[in-house]
Amino acid sequence: MTAQPAKKLLVLPGDGIGPEVMREVTRIITWLEEKRGLSFDITEDLVGGASLAEYGEPIRDEVIEKARAADAVLFGSVGDPRWNHVGFDKRPELAILKLRQELALFANLRPAKVFDALVDASTLKPDVVRGLDIMIVRETVGGIYFGNPRGIETLPDGSKRGINTEVYTTSEIERVARVAFELARKRSGRVCSVEKCNVMESGLLWKEVVTDLHAREYKDVGLSHMLADNCAMQLVRNPRQFDVIVTGNLFGDILSDLASMLTGSLGMLPSATLGAADSHGKLPALYEPIHGSAPDIAGQGIANPIAQILSFAMLLRYSFNMQDEGQLIEDAVSNVLESGLRTADIISDGKTRVSTSVMGDAILGELDKLQK
Ligand code: NAD
Repeated sequence: MTAQPAKKLLVLPGDGIGPEVMREVTRIITWLEEKRGLSFDITEDLVGGASLAEYGEPIRDEVIEKARAADAVLFGSVGDPRWNHVGFDKRPELAILKLRQELALFANLRPAKVFDALVDASTLKPDVVRGLDIMIVRETVGGIYFGNPRGIETLPDGSKRGINTEVYTTSEIERVARVAFELARKRSGRVCSVEKCNVMESGLLWKEVVTDLHAREYKDVGLSHMLADNCAMQLVRNPRQFDVIVTGNLFGDILSDLASMLTGSLGMLPSATLGAADSHGKLPALYEPIHGSAPDIAGQGIANPIAQILSFAMLLRYSFNMQDEGQLIEDAVSNVLESGLRTADIISDGKTRVSTSVMGDAILGELDKLQK
């Protein structure tokens, strides 16, 4: 156990179940400080509907600046039906979109890992998903969600036309592909690049750029290419064929949701969004569960805190290079699931239903056992 300099962590719990699941992470942070001699410099702030209620905007510039200054941001979730009446420029969800854009967080990493104890929670057969461990790297600040021209225009005959444009440049493709190749080197060394080069020029360029970068710098990594529609089919047919998948914003949005359901529940899945390292090697990074604020169960104390806890484990690994602590948390989660405890979203016959805080207690108890 060696004392390390305090890492700056910005914690943004947000709305709905966000603060409920974040509370369980805070308890783990306290455990790490007390039992592992680590030190974190933590700042907490409001975002989303909570910030709208207090400050009249979903995120303040001050919070963006705190995010820039932090070594990593741990985000809960935003979204609150009480703000459904406000325009798109004031929605709680703007908080996360603005953070991603202001920090230029262009690569979203979504692991889809099936815990042995939850193999029956998937809608696919256990034989298909057992041992599944894939990582989808999605480009998040470019592509069709941001390309111009865009909009809805009225045609001379009074009917309308909706327009969005898929745009990718060489550098946008290269930087996200680089993230995927680097990750693959730390995993089983395989990248599958996904686009629609058969019908889209932007897909053709995507494939060319990834192929060139691979030949120049990553020959030690295995590279394959797949059309997005085939990838969707293969993810359901034989998902274990994949290790790292890299793709653009639109296909990544869809394929990563698909992959997440292979594992059974939204409440189990963490994610990271990374930017480019600066000249001092500092990597802008935000970690969040893939689920939203779940207003249907907020305030009931029944939300699954594991996605938020595993997001924190990813943060320890990727931003703070604390591999041992990341592993410890992942092992504690796995052991608690093996013991049969389940929150309502992952309950099955013969298992014990527990609340958010009891799941947190069990994970802390398991950390204690593993630490000995
Ligand atoms: P959601 O992920 O919040 O919920 C979908 C379903 O999954 C709900 O039935 C919910 O109860 C359940 N669920 C989600 N997380 C769970 C957990 N940890 N434990 C147990 N059950 C869980 O998606 P939604 O209902 O489409 O969206 C609700 C709000 O969240 C909306 O305002 C949406 O815009 C917002 N949202 C925010 C983010 C984000 O902050 N990054 C992401 C997605 C959705």
